[in-house]
Amino acid sequence: MQIDHDIQKRIKEKLSGKIFETITAVADEMQLECYVIGGYVRDLLLFRPSKDIDVVAIGRGIDLAEGVAKRLGRVSLSVFKNFGTAQIKYKDTEIEFVGARKESYQRDSRKPIIEDGTLEDDQNRRDFTFNALAICLNKDRFGELLDPFGGLEDMANLIIRTPLNPDITFSDDPLRMMRAIRFSSQLGFDIEPNTFDAIFRNKERIKIISEERIIDELNKIVLSPKPSVGLLQLDKTGLLEIIFPELVALKGAETKDGVGHKDNFYHTLAVLDNIAKKTNDLWLRWAAILHDIAKPVTKRFDKKLGWTFHNHNFIGEKMIPGIFRRMKLPLNEKMKYVQKMVTLHMRPQVLVDEDITDSAVRRLLFEAGDDIEDLMTLCEADITSKNQEKIRRYLINFEIVRQKLREIEEKDHIRNFQPPIKGEEIMEIFNLPPGKDVGRLKSSIKDAILDGAIPNEYNAAYQYLIEKAKKMGIEPKKG
Ligand code: ATP
Repeated sequence: MQIDHDIQKRIKEKLSGKIFETITAVADEMQLECYVIGGYVRDLLLFRPSKDIDVVAIGRGIDLAEGVAKRLGRVSLSVFKNFGTAQIKYKDTEIEFVGARKESYQRDSRKPIIEDGTLEDDQNRRDFTFNALAICLNKDRFGELLDPFGGLEDMANLIIRTPLNPDITFSDDPLRMMRAIRFSSQLGFDIEPNTFDAIFRNKERIKIISEERIIDELNKIVLSPKPSVGLLQLDKTGLLEIIFPELVALKGAETKDGVGHKDNFYHTLAVLDNIAKKTNDLWLRWAAILHDIAKPVTKRFDKKLGWTFHNHNFIGEKMIPGIFRRMKLPLNEKMKYVQKMVTLHMRPQVLVDEDITDSAVRRLLFEAGDDIEDLMTLCEADITSKNQEKIRRYLINFEIVRQKLREIEEKDHIRNFQPPIKGEEIMEIFNLPPGKDVGRLKSSIKDAILDGAIPNEYNAAYQYLIEKAKKMGIEPKKG
């Protein structure tokens, strides 16, 4: 393919500056052929920002890295002798150096045999045509683009294709199937049909890949501009059934006695796409993925009510640790946040349905705390009706809820609510040992405030406490 003037100009522009000048000078002095390769070249041509530079030397990459580090001065250099790689951190850029290598996979082993190789060998082991592009950094050929598999043309046509036979590429390293779909979702490219069919054929091979590597790719799909693009392809290729069966279980719309329900798989994807327009937060996106995850297990048909999914929010909350553990997602406060979102995701709607009373709003504020805004964002994303009038009505109602939330928060400061009287003080006032009575008194104050029976203030709470205790036959200690 003809490399046009604009591309040459862009290459020259992006490969200018101290880092590249230094690599060129050192490589030439060492008489070492070297190239920038892979993601950096791809992103440069796609006008995407990229901070990671991969440099491949035809020879010892580590020697080149050491020479470059010395010349740049004040950099951090890490050498990984076993892997034959070295990394330089220079300001906010990471540069990885490696010698060109040839990889050959044995049928019975996941680890390839690695030997020193030529640039072509190194390009052959790359996953996609656009990831095999290399640009020479030596002075006499500086900026020369080597594109043995037509990566530029594929990029121009927005196509993802493996450089060699896709069945071999995917069987050798099955993670590449996830990567194909991830790039498709991130870049909005189509996977070339033969490459796509090979994913379908090789899907079972994904089982040899660790959950950690799979979730890295899945999270990149979840974080892409329109995550349903990737998730639908994971589904079509059969990969989703293997890595995330709970999500596939949401599929299907049953009808009984003429009453149907929506397909919760496509609904969930629509909610996720809606959320993706509002936030780049991975965990709020995960909350969208999981908000209805318990619908299949809670689904019932009731002659009067039609299809019901009672408590699917609570059951969903309980399913999350198992899913997170298996998928190697973190079992920390991020998971708790997702659980909280899932548990509460129906509450704003219930508020609208049942009457937006002050006390209901206070309780929601208390339970959601600082995550109330995220919860409202999730609830709005959850409206996926095709009926525009219905959507408009829902959004107006949620705006009323938001307004009420603001009013109550301004008045009562419930968001980070701490009951004004703590357990220790209750024990002290009544000379009580730790136990049930202290707990009951404490929550009675909390409930009185949330219900609006008393204001969120110390004196009112103290008075209320004394009266409540009296009814329970408990008197303050004397003196
Ligand atoms: P991103 O930077 O968006 O995470 P990337 O693929 O460019 O994506 P890396 O994972 O660092 O970033 O990969 C750098 C390069 O290494 C790729 O462009 C590709 O050439 C090659 N590569 C990475 N993983 C594989 C793989 N599993 N099989 C073949 N080549 C790979």
